[in-house]
Amino acid sequence: MPPKVRGVLIAGNWKMNYGPKETEAYFRAMAAQAPSLPSDKLRACLIPPAVSLATAQHLASQNPFPITIAAQNAHWELKGAFTGELSGPMLKEIGLSTVLIGHSERRQFFGETDETVRKRADSLIAQGFEVILCIGETRAEREAHQTEAVLRRQLDEGVSAAALSSGKLIIAYEPVWAIGTGLTATPGQAQEAHAFIRGHLKKTHGAIADKIVILYGGSVTPENIDSLLACPDVDGGLVGGASLKPESFLALLSKVGRTFW
Ligand code: PEP
Repeated sequence: MPPKVRGVLIAGNWKMNYGPKETEAYFRAMAAQAPSLPSDKLRACLIPPAVSLATAQHLASQNPFPITIAAQNAHWELKGAFTGELSGPMLKEIGLSTVLIGHSERRQFFGETDETVRKRADSLIAQGFEVILCIGETRAEREAHQTEAVLRRQLDEGVSAAALSSGKLIIAYEPVWAIGTGLTATPGQAQEAHAFIRGHLKKTHGAIADKIVILYGGSVTPENIDSLLACPDVDGGLVGGASLKPESFLALLSKVGRTFW
């Protein structure tokens, strides 16, 4: 297997699942099953819903292996009349330093646009957060051979030069047709999209593109993670369904560890 030069990040997005009690049970089960990560080049992250963030952050500090807790979204303003939103300072107060932005479910159901994605990412990065920024095409866009045009637009309009050069930006390529559908992109499709993303960033922003971590998301499982990660431009996974059980989240981590180190 080719060496993973940018390390590997496995991030589990719980979406609208697990309140504080279930979060506690998850961490208890995880701690009982796994005393360590298989490599220090492998990084684990969980992304619980807002109400469980403080609990998860507290439990992560006691977990036998390091695990980053990230929020599923945050606003670009620091405070104010934005009902239902979270701010960077609030997340900092409970010890968080990573935020997911622009997930396709936010774009599809909650009116997120490339412009609001860029505003959120830029503000959070300026506040010192690491941002995982999601992009990806729908099935109709892929079938209309628009994949590269969509990715190009999402990158040009959603990703600023400041975000890219901060060293705090992670991109997650998530083909919308593969999210929660059981339809995974083939390793060839994933590599093609990831190479396009890196190549486009190189063209627009130069050598920094080689350092950007690009995750793949869309029906990642312990069974397919190794073939996806074998692609040179795939630096990890953003995982929904397979992160909901501690056993399968741990199986993903240990499969990556067994395959790559
Ligand atoms: C996701 O939530 O970002 C995701 C990729 O979900 P799933 O792994 O279930 O397809």
